[in-house]
Amino acid sequence: MKTTRRSFVASGGSALLGVVGGQGFFHLRPDHDLVIRGGTLFDGSGAEGRDLDLAIDGGRIVSIGKRLRLRGRDEINARGLCVSPGFVDIHSHGDSSLEEDPRAESVIRQGITTIVTGADGSSRATGAEGKSFAALFESIDRMRPGPNVASMVGLGSIRGSVVGNADRPATAIEIQRMTAMVVRALADGACGVSSGLEYTPGAFASRDELIALCRPLSARKLAYATHMRNEDDRLLDAIDESIAVARGARCALQISHLKTQGPRNWPKLDDAFARIAAASSANVNAAFDRYPYVAYSTGLTNLFPVWSRDGGISAFFARLADPAVAPRIKRETLAKVELIGGWDNAQISSVRTADDRAAEGKRLGAYARALSIDPYETAVGLLRRSNGDVGMLGHAMSEENLERILSHPLGMVCSDGGGFAVDGPTRRGSPHPRGAGSFPRVLGRYVRERKVLSLPVAIRKMTSMPASRVGLANRGRLAVGSAGDVVIFDPARIADTATFDAPFQYPVGITAVVVNGIVALREGQRNPTGSGRGLRAG
Ligand SMILES: [Zn+2]
Repeated sequence: MKTTRRSFVASGGSALLGVVGGQGFFHLRPDHDLVIRGGTLFDGSGAEGRDLDLAIDGGRIVSIGKRLRLRGRDEINARGLCVSPGFVDIHSHGDSSLEEDPRAESVIRQGITTIVTGADGSSRATGAEGKSFAALFESIDRMRPGPNVASMVGLGSIRGSVVGNADRPATAIEIQRMTAMVVRALADGACGVSSGLEYTPGAFASRDELIALCRPLSARKLAYATHMRNEDDRLLDAIDESIAVARGARCALQISHLKTQGPRNWPKLDDAFARIAAASSANVNAAFDRYPYVAYSTGLTNLFPVWSRDGGISAFFARLADPAVAPRIKRETLAKVELIGGWDNAQISSVRTADDRAAEGKRLGAYARALSIDPYETAVGLLRRSNGDVGMLGHAMSEENLERILSHPLGMVCSDGGGFAVDGPTRRGSPHPRGAGSFPRVLGRYVRERKVLSLPVAIRKMTSMPASRVGLANRGRLAVGSAGDVVIFDPARIADTATFDAPFQYPVGITAVVVNGIVALREGQRNPTGSGRGLRAG
């Protein structure tokens, strides 16, 4: 059913009439835009929930208290439900589909009210002439997306525009130019710096280059967020490098989607935690985030060594056809496949060409067997026909480690997902279910069922921790003066329903989502009016 603005507002309004009915004429004129009444309020600090009402005016929280007397033009009955700050997704790829579908359905329906984009070294703005963050935020404001959108500045995007795709050190002049871009980006409200050191061209940056480009962060107390150079056999080296960058630049460190990839690396988690703890006690402000699944999502090219991708996709295909280097590429790729446990642990999530549509959602090993083609050749063929643009999910992580990472005091929750909808243009391929399920999955599976962490602690990891990490002082807390970003959910029912085989399914148990004081989702109905805007840090 299509909800028009009028029917949406009317259904909200009729609830109000019922409430106002018995209150006498004094209160017929509502005093607040929105009152959320009767729920158990978690303020985002990690404190236990308390029975408090909350009132919002002009997009801000104006009152919190026991049984608020003044009425709202709109009211939400939260009896028996949790009232939490809207979730802040500190590592999101939701920006990639906003122009196609600004509703960002899968984001809002998880209770996420702010996405932090520009992850993995890749951002839409760079701070260069014509690609400023000021212009990016203005375009988001005009777009009126479902959630608020903050963005880091991506060092891969900056390097691409200054140095290009080549594997070579940046010159002193280039480092100066790139640093100036970071400075401008931060001045315009970028909420941190991100790197993607397993991707090209970000991978070609040296440690010294990373330190130079992260220096401007310290004055603003913002973080360097990194998809590290390695997440499997050289994980510990990669953590050391990340800490060295933060120490050299005197900035905070956010390790993105911390994981120990490949069964033989699962025992490394204690060492990983020990290194992060040592850094913290040596005054490096280090933390990390993780999505609640044991499969990762990336490009299929990521199974192939970084050196083979030097220079971009056509250079990559040329090497695959070059008998002098092709065998070495194959050898290193097969080693990586073995590390994740074989071709059946690589699931194709998207292709670009319609001819290969049948591969989407399939395990590469099984798909190749069905075609009677060697799996390596199958992978190369898929890449060729989609010009390198093939997505994959790698089922290679440990459930036990996941629980330890989520419950670690320095761990935050992220989705690392894209935004999509069960209807409209973004329903395509077979994406990682994290784009639709991450936050409800933590609250359902890891809080309620597995009891890996408590409800107030989980909420803190989804709200105030990430918000303060990215300099969004007014978000992630339910306090008077804070932004009116709220999620109301049933702690006994909240759950993800999206799976690796059927990702296009929304979570259950979320009653309402409020963004900037606007009710964006209510009892499963989306408000067609956009509620989000561009969020500038600081
Ligand atoms: Zn990443």
